[in-house]
Amino acid sequence: MDKLKARLAAFMSGRYGMDDLNKGLVGLYVVILLVNLGLKSQILSALIWPIMVYAIYRTYSRDHARRSAENDKYLALTKPLRRRLSIARRAIAGFKSYRYRSCPHCKATIELPARKGSRSIICPKCKTEFEVRIRV
Ligand SMILES: [Zn+2]
Repeated sequence: MDKLKARLAAFMSGRYGMDDLNKGLVGLYVVILLVNLGLKSQILSALIWPIMVYAIYRTYSRDHARRSAENDKYLALTKPLRRRLSIARRAIAGFKSYRYRSCPHCKATIELPARKGSRSIICPKCKTEFEVRIRV
C-alpha cells in the first residue's frame, strides 16, 4: 500500500492541478450534460468530451507557465461575469436587509438598507449624488 502511495505521489509530482479555468470547464461540462439530458443532441454529446479531455489534460500538465497564462486569460475574460454573479449572490443572501444599486456615474455597487421609498444617496466612491427607489 505504501508503495502504491509513493508511486501515486511520484506521478502527481510537478503536475499543474486544478485552477479556475479547470473549474469553469468542469462546470461547463456539467451544464451541457444536464441540458443534453432533455435535448438528447448528438452534437452536444460530441462537444462535451473534448471539454473534459482538455480539463484533464490541463490538470496533469507539467507546463505550469502555459497553464497559468491560460488561466489568467480566462480570469480576465470572465471578470465582468464573475463580478455580476458575486453581486447577485450577495443580493440573494441579504435580501431581507439590503438592496444593491449601481452608481450611474462610476458603476460602483452600493449596498443600501432595505427601506421602502425614494431617497437621494451619495456614492461613497465618486461622491455623485443620485436618486434611488426601493419598492419592496
Ligand atoms: Zn459613483
